[in-house]
Amino acid sequence: MARVFNFNAGPSAMPLPVLQQVQAEFLDFDHTGMSIVEISHRSAAYQKMQDDTVAVLRRLMQIPDDYHVIFMQGGGSMQFLMHGANFLKHRGGYLNTGIWSDKAMKAASYYGEVYEVASSKADHFSYIPKEDTFMVKPDTDYIYMTSNNTVHGTQWQTFPHVDVPLFCDMSSDFLSRPVVVTNFDFIYAGVQKNVGPAGVVVGIIKDSLLKHVREGLPDMLSYRTFADHDSTYNTPPVFCIYFVNRVAHWLEEQGGLTAIEARNAKKAALLYDCIDGSDGFYRGHAAKDSRSVMNVTFNLPTPELEAKFVAEATARDLIGIKGHRSLGGCRASIYNAVTEEACQALADFMNEFKKKQ
Ligand SMILES: *Cc1c(COP(=O)(O)O)cnc(C)c1O
Repeated sequence: MARVFNFNAGPSAMPLPVLQQVQAEFLDFDHTGMSIVEISHRSAAYQKMQDDTVAVLRRLMQIPDDYHVIFMQGGGSMQFLMHGANFLKHRGGYLNTGIWSDKAMKAASYYGEVYEVASSKADHFSYIPKEDTFMVKPDTDYIYMTSNNTVHGTQWQTFPHVDVPLFCDMSSDFLSRPVVVTNFDFIYAGVQKNVGPAGVVVGIIKDSLLKHVREGLPDMLSYRTFADHDSTYNTPPVFCIYFVNRVAHWLEEQGGLTAIEARNAKKAALLYDCIDGSDGFYRGHAAKDSRSVMNVTFNLPTPELEAKFVAEATARDLIGIKGHRSLGGCRASIYNAVTEEACQALADFMNEFKKKQ
């Protein structure tokens, strides 16, 4: 079996021990004599696993009791629509820091007025706006943000403090660092970047916010349906939730979010040091104070060199380095499961490639 160095942006690398565990458990889940994909979501064995998933997430993130943890389908894109359906009554404010927040703002506009509280769109989303530039209008129902901008390689280093409910799309840095959950009224994350297979979104929603869900929504569009029915109003994505469970346990064994944060910082430094030490051969897309620890974006002197770089990297089993189609250039996604060894191999290749040119 030959495993490559996987820098894919999402779906992306998963921890090898978890993949092996899932493989070993696949035919007989928790002594049921059946696979996790063969048992009822109303069974005791399933419920025990889902309850445990919520419990581990609560421990890892220190989620207080007055927040529900829910599981939904439809990916991040469904949340772009759903948060507006539930909570946009007067106007929604957006911290527009990348294509995902841009899409969320457009999707939510179906339900009412949306506006930019701050934006880095005019500068190709290359930085995170400062809090003192925020313009919050009266009657703002919520402020919506994206903690890590997967495509552009920027990340909020600290979270803003605002006087209205704060919503956050954490899809591409969920469980990569500690966050203070109480700063937010609603957090969601599609798990396929950092925590599991595509197919489930974890929602962390404050009970006091649930009281403001728009009345008369169709059941499947309402956050209250998921909270009131413990995410089993209909069949939840059982395999995805089980996989998240195993990744969450793996994270606990690694020492939790503080430990994984330190490891992620070390990995990112290997690549950013390489960029900064390249005399301008590699140019980082993100402003230095906004750099993402999860997605490292950079350009080479010409698009031709970028194509050559990606081709040679691929030949060395450094996979997934091509930038997002909307931005071009290169991107190395170095989520929790990407090892320091992989980052070192890429940094070595970058230094070597530069020397050859
Ligand atoms: C990938 C991504 C999305 C989109 O998720 P889908 O599940 O493909 O709809 C949303 N937000 C962020 C931050 C992402 O990285």
